[in-house]
Amino acid sequence: MALADAHTHLEQFAAQEIPGILQRAQQVGVACIIVAGVTEESSQRVIALAEEHQGVYAGVGIQPSDVKGPLDARACQRLKALAHSNPKVVCISEVGLDFAPGMPSLEWQRQALRQQVRLARELGLPVIFHSRERPGHIADHYETLKVLAEEKVEEVGGAFHYFQWSQEIAQACFDLGLYVSIAKPLLRLPALQAVVKDLPLERLVLETDSYPQPFKRNRLRWTEPKDVLAVAEKIAELKGILLEAVARATTGNLLRLLKGKVAIPTEAP
Ligand SMILES: [Zn+2]
Repeated sequence: MALADAHTHLEQFAAQEIPGILQRAQQVGVACIIVAGVTEESSQRVIALAEEHQGVYAGVGIQPSDVKGPLDARACQRLKALAHSNPKVVCISEVGLDFAPGMPSLEWQRQALRQQVRLARELGLPVIFHSRERPGHIADHYETLKVLAEEKVEEVGGAFHYFQWSQEIAQACFDLGLYVSIAKPLLRLPALQAVVKDLPLERLVLETDSYPQPFKRNRLRWTEPKDVLAVAEKIAELKGILLEAVARATTGNLLRLLKGKVAIPTEAP
């Protein structure tokens, strides 16, 4: 059984942690892990990590909280050069809009998102994106989807990372040909469980958004890519189907989204 983690920040872990994290993931069948850059510099580190490790792939992008102004043509050229620098760059990520208080100007964020979706289309890479609403303003997500639609994201496809919203917002993603990416909030949010229970398996991918969590004093409780297994098990339980069916579908979905750029060794029957 092969599982896949569509979104992590493994480059933020200490280098000596990486082999153990990858081994623990491999032990539960995680065969593909995408590490998303958040700045130009982190995108470079992500590519180095992908180059070094089997089953690790890279996303390049500037995340909304790191937008420092309009993304100029030279910055776009540098991102493009990064994407071209290695065949293991498989998506533009992490990009998006963040409406939470204290985030950079939304005008800059929108411009950066538009430029990066245009880059994704130029490169033929899917977009794995972030969207966070102002507290109580769930409709903000439609704003993110509107920008993506205006930039014709459906030409390359994509996934809404860390999805934990309503059936209606999921449907708006599906209408754009996008996947929704389910993470560990599914394990603890009954409202999300009720939504995911009825979402079509053929539109779901899995992720952990793993990054170092020193605020959890017990290191064993830090989220790692191995935890996609728990997310897959929860989906199987909610839908009343076999874990194997969830793994096959969600991994297949991610591979389709990545347009054959990721190869997972075929398993023995
Ligand atoms: Zn992330």
